[in-house]
Amino acid sequence: MERWSLAAEFLAFILIITTVVFYHDRKQVKSARKRLFESSLLMTAVSIGLNIAGVYGIENYRQVPHWINAWVNCGYFLVSVWACSMIAAYLFDLLLEHVYVKTCRTRAVVGLSLVNGIYTLLTLSNAWTGLMFWFDAEGAYHRGPLNRLGYGVMLIELLMVMMCYLRNRESVGQKVRKVIYTLPPVVLLLALFQIAYPEILLNGTILTFALLIIFVNFQHSQVEKDSLTGVGNRKDFYEELFLRLKGKQRFQIAMVSLLDFAAVNQKFGYRRGDEFLYHIARWLDEFQKDGRAFRFSNVTFALICPYVDAENSRSLLEAMESRFGQPWSLGETVCKIPACFGAMICEESELEATQVVELLSFMVESAKTKEDGKVLFDREAERMFWKKKHLEQVLQEAAEKRNFEVWYQPIFNCALQRFDSAEALIRLRDPEGKLVSPAEFIPLAEENGLIDEIGWFVWKEACRFVGGHSELSLHTVSVNMSAQQFLNPELRSRMEAVLEENGLSADRIKLEITERVILSDEKYMKQLMRDFSANGFRFCVDDFGIGYSNFSGVMHLPFECIKLDQSLIEKIPSDAQDRLVVRSMIELFHSMGMRVVAEGVETKVQKELIEQMGADYIQGYYFAKPMPEAEVLAFLSKT
Ligand code: C2E
Ligand code: CA
Ligand code: CA
Repeated sequence: MERWSLAAEFLAFILIITTVVFYHDRKQVKSARKRLFESSLLMTAVSIGLNIAGVYGIENYRQVPHWINAWVNCGYFLVSVWACSMIAAYLFDLLLEHVYVKTCRTRAVVGLSLVNGIYTLLTLSNAWTGLMFWFDAEGAYHRGPLNRLGYGVMLIELLMVMMCYLRNRESVGQKVRKVIYTLPPVVLLLALFQIAYPEILLNGTILTFALLIIFVNFQHSQVEKDSLTGVGNRKDFYEELFLRLKGKQRFQIAMVSLLDFAAVNQKFGYRRGDEFLYHIARWLDEFQKDGRAFRFSNVTFALICPYVDAENSRSLLEAMESRFGQPWSLGETVCKIPACFGAMICEESELEATQVVELLSFMVESAKTKEDGKVLFDREAERMFWKKKHLEQVLQEAAEKRNFEVWYQPIFNCALQRFDSAEALIRLRDPEGKLVSPAEFIPLAEENGLIDEIGWFVWKEACRFVGGHSELSLHTVSVNMSAQQFLNPELRSRMEAVLEENGLSADRIKLEITERVILSDEKYMKQLMRDFSANGFRFCVDDFGIGYSNFSGVMHLPFECIKLDQSLIEKIPSDAQDRLVVRSMIELFHSMGMRVVAEGVETKVQKELIEQMGADYIQGYYFAKPMPEAEVLAFLSKT
């Protein structure tokens, strides 16, 4: 009579049960894959249970009714192979996670069904054929000619998995790759061991090893998930993107960035805010068949889904937009959450994942400033992107090589009827020698943190210019300052050091700041301006009159002068209303003890009108454009 050792199977059973308990403890959102894993665990546990019961029955066949032995063994033969097929199905699902094309998926389903169908039929008919096992007249167990067929099925499934991997390896992630490299050898080794020592039963152990390898790699960790929303996190998004690009697949990415979500948190509290985020993430995740959502950053989500055609992409964007046009409700709480959108199509794209991410971020940023709040990645968007990239490169190079120049635009003093000050304006030349407008590169430098360096360069140049030309009766030069520059705690002492080197007092270089700079941190700026003013520095409000200008914002701050923006000056010759507004503004600022500079004065009429209205200084093309140092020196010495 056959005798078997069940020691390994008992251990495997304990391990499986422990894993089931551990696994059940976790409150996870159950995806189809998780359910498949759970079923594989249970199926393996049942298979080991049946194996143990079967062995007991066979060894005690005189006490156990024959039909029980027959059924238990039949059940064991079936369940052990089914469990193995479930693990194979799980592996297929992992391998094809980043592949939309259905061919391999269909082949896997057909292959697994076919193999299992045939095997099941053969097992069920074993009672008559005895191909797998049979019982003699006394009820003793005997192996049939196809007793090891189960191993054959395992081997076929393993080969199918390997083939699927080889076909799609470009789109298989690092972790799955690791499983593919470890799982088959381990299984094969154990199977060989089993064949060499048939008395030591190992079937359940093999399945348990396979499940443990999967568990360790995938099912126990939440690392790739965003803990708040349960969708993929940024790292996960990168991986998905990287693999799809590497596999040269056709897909599209849609981005949603929530606007002013801080207001939602403020209104309903952070807990509710988090719940809204969860709700939105889940909606996005389920919104498109085969689509997967990711939390890209705090309030920006990305959706990756198959690309069908341009029409479909447009309607996808529209459907998202229309959903975000509707309120979201959580029980009693109902809230509209505005958002902006970007979408991009990748068809055998040559771009790298980091470039795509950069492009997407750029698109979302530009969508924020668009009226309809959405951007579809088209040729125009691509052009803008490459232009920005190019500019960034030029800027970086210029910063390294100090390839900037400072130009000066003279400012006319109406009382003295001569030029006694100038504004320092930075200039950048690209490698072809073309001038790049500061209106284009200053915002970029602010974004990249290069503004500090540029600011220092301008400051030093301006000080050197004023200090080195005392013959010009140039009393002051004004310098434009960005918000970031004020964050440097050593700003004042460093500025003072440069002034001292050039023998200048602080009031010789005026600091021009816009209201936006003040609004970046009102309290801090107020404090800082007081401190600077107390040390002799002078401030000037720049661009007053565009957009968000308001009197109260500048009234309580130590400004010495105010620059009226060109948009205010432009229409004074033609519009009586505008004349009235500008005149009253000048009077008001005078009554507050400030000097008024009119900017962007281009014509004689404008110059005369603004002078009559009482402006103290005039700056504009009418008198002079910004000029390089040598030219401005010549200009000033002539006048
Ligand atoms: P801004 O401070 O308002 O500078 C005045 C801008 O108006 C200059 O443009 C000047 O060339 C232009 N302008 C002067 N008169 C006229 C006129 O009569 N008609 C017209 N159409 N334009 C006139 P620019 O030099 O291109 O500078 C653009 C902006 O870039 C500046 O605006 C300022 O915000 C920023 N910027 C320039 N240099 C610096 C700098 O060193 N640091 C910082 N942070 N920003 C700078
Ligand atoms: Ca300015
Ligand atoms: Ca200005």
